[in-house]
Amino acid sequence: MEKSINISGGSFLIQPGDAENTFTPEDLNEEQRMIHDMALEFTDNELFTRLDEIDNHEPGLVPSLLEKAGELGLLGVSVPEEYGGFAKDFNTGTVVTEIVGAAHAFSVAYSAHTGIGTLPILYFGTEEQKQKYLPGLATGQLKASYCLTEPGSGSDALAAKTKAVLNAEGTHYILDGQKMWITNAGFADVFIVFAKIDGKDFTAFIVERNTPGLSVGAEENKMGIKGSSTCQVFFENCAVPKDAILGEIGRGHVIAFNILNIGRYKLSAAAMGGCKRSLTNAIRYANERQQFGKSISSFGAIQYKLSEMAIRTYALEAANWRVSNYIDDRKKLLTEEGKSLAEASLGAAEEYAIECALLKVAGSEALDYVVDEGVQIYGGYGFSEEYPLARAYRDARINRIFEGTNEINRLLIVDMLLKRAMKGQIDMMTPAMEVQKELMGIPEMGEPDTDAFSAEVKAIANMKKAILMVAGAAVQKLMMQLKDEQEILMAVADMIIDTFMAESALLRTMKHAESEGAAEREAMVQVLITDAMDRINKSGKTAIMSFATGDEQRMMLLGLKRFTKYRMLNTTALRRTVAARLIEADNYCY
Ligand SMILES: Cc1cc2nc3c(=O)[nH]c(=O)nc-3n(C[C@H](O)[C@H](O)[C@H](O)COP(=O)(O)OP(=O)(O)OC[C@H]3O[C@@H](n4cnc5c(N)ncnc54)[C@H](O)[C@@H]3O)c2cc1C
Repeated sequence: MEKSINISGGSFLIQPGDAENTFTPEDLNEEQRMIHDMALEFTDNELFTRLDEIDNHEPGLVPSLLEKAGELGLLGVSVPEEYGGFAKDFNTGTVVTEIVGAAHAFSVAYSAHTGIGTLPILYFGTEEQKQKYLPGLATGQLKASYCLTEPGSGSDALAAKTKAVLNAEGTHYILDGQKMWITNAGFADVFIVFAKIDGKDFTAFIVERNTPGLSVGAEENKMGIKGSSTCQVFFENCAVPKDAILGEIGRGHVIAFNILNIGRYKLSAAAMGGCKRSLTNAIRYANERQQFGKSISSFGAIQYKLSEMAIRTYALEAANWRVSNYIDDRKKLLTEEGKSLAEASLGAAEEYAIECALLKVAGSEALDYVVDEGVQIYGGYGFSEEYPLARAYRDARINRIFEGTNEINRLLIVDMLLKRAMKGQIDMMTPAMEVQKELMGIPEMGEPDTDAFSAEVKAIANMKKAILMVAGAAVQKLMMQLKDEQEILMAVADMIIDTFMAESALLRTMKHAESEGAAEREAMVQVLITDAMDRINKSGKTAIMSFATGDEQRMMLLGLKRFTKYRMLNTTALRRTVAARLIEADNYCY
């Protein structure tokens, strides 16, 4: 059993990772592998064969595919058995999300239904609400959507204007307002709607489709994920019974934000599935396509792309499974302590909210990189709708926008970290002081890096020192003003993301150092650390130069230089070994 229960959220920054106890995709059990195969069969046979029909909005197709997914149990993975689900653990949920998550527009319908549509009822509903809706949601007989965003309030979700007023008889709330960009709105039976009671108490309601006063606008004409239903939803004198309130009056933000933590994790898991599919397509195409008398996969420029796509995918997998298991273990621990399903599930996701936010950014950006280079590898055929990369490219882009834009998530990463530090949940002060002391002292030469991975372990520790140095100084110097210095916050967030991804890839590689392909995995980690160090150096410099001056600036720049030093490696040769294995396997084989 993994021991990640001892790891508190955000503490990766102040303590070294533990390879042996880090969960990796190689550690999935027999049942999870069977569920993986079943989900893959459904995705390949039912979804990837119908991508055009889905994107052309063939009437009734997406709802019927959701029902098929329901018949196979794919909608009720996290729903308890008494409500018609399968009560599987969080890691099993990740297995399914990764596979179905690669299925373009359908995956968005699936995520909105099983995630933001179903989970608010599962975690915040009364017993009556759960019995009324969950069995239908778990089988797909009912479809769900989540209405938070409005034309005037997206990132600033709490500025919503939709209003709810209790009628004179005291029996119904009357909803008035407008929601925007609502996934599944075209066919959903159940809408989770956020409105302000009397214009002030932000509250969630369960609203059924046939409620008079609820109407759905036309389908939006979108850049990508064309087959997912996205419409405005209007509420005009829409009377919902008092018992349609979900959770407590005035506590809608707790539902909205807690559900988003899980949504962010899931988005990253889905992006991981997308990366793997597009990368495999690109490898196969590169092997098949002949130019200048040879397959294009023999060209260094293409090998560079394939290796970089694989490195980012590998790191994303490592980071996703690491966090999936943190959440899984924490949920089990909280359940053992007597917490309810809702308390345990939400508590676990909230504990790792920093990790969920950073994965959302890393996952969506890795996917965008992979599909972009995928199009490039396909050349002109990448621009053709006859080939898979054009759709992958269009469909990936939304991921940087929804579930909190990547800017909002970057801000949240640092904000949540500083709040945790201020509340004493993680001790950043002691290690930050140690870094300060180290900076003042004479640099230690340390032990020579003779052991396997010792240089990499040291590099990751140094990345963390660089973050503590920059973030610590920024807090000291700017204090309350820091929240308005978004460029610094973005730079620090990038340093944190790079560090977490590189460490996760390293831990996975160390854990499986004896397995097949170990040399190429090691090469991937070395390339990743080399490039991450350069990016961390650049981000650190940007931050330091914007708030420090004189001696302090000079000392910090020297410190940054020291902390971002890593071995000088021939990354070209390393990348070639990574690419050679991909080309030989003819798929993503890490
Ligand atoms: C296809 C699709 C499906 C969607 N599905 C749903 C759904 O099912 N339910 C739902 O409720 N919503 C849904 N959304 C809405 C989505 O969550 C919002 O679009 C998103 O939160 C961004 O809000 P916005 O579009 O109003 O952009 P804005 O908030 O106006 O942001 C515009 C830009 O400004 C930046 N920005 C905003 N505030 C700040 C800040 N404080 N600091 C720095 N930068 C900032 C943003 O990062 C962004 O780059 C969906 C959207 C799309 C496109």
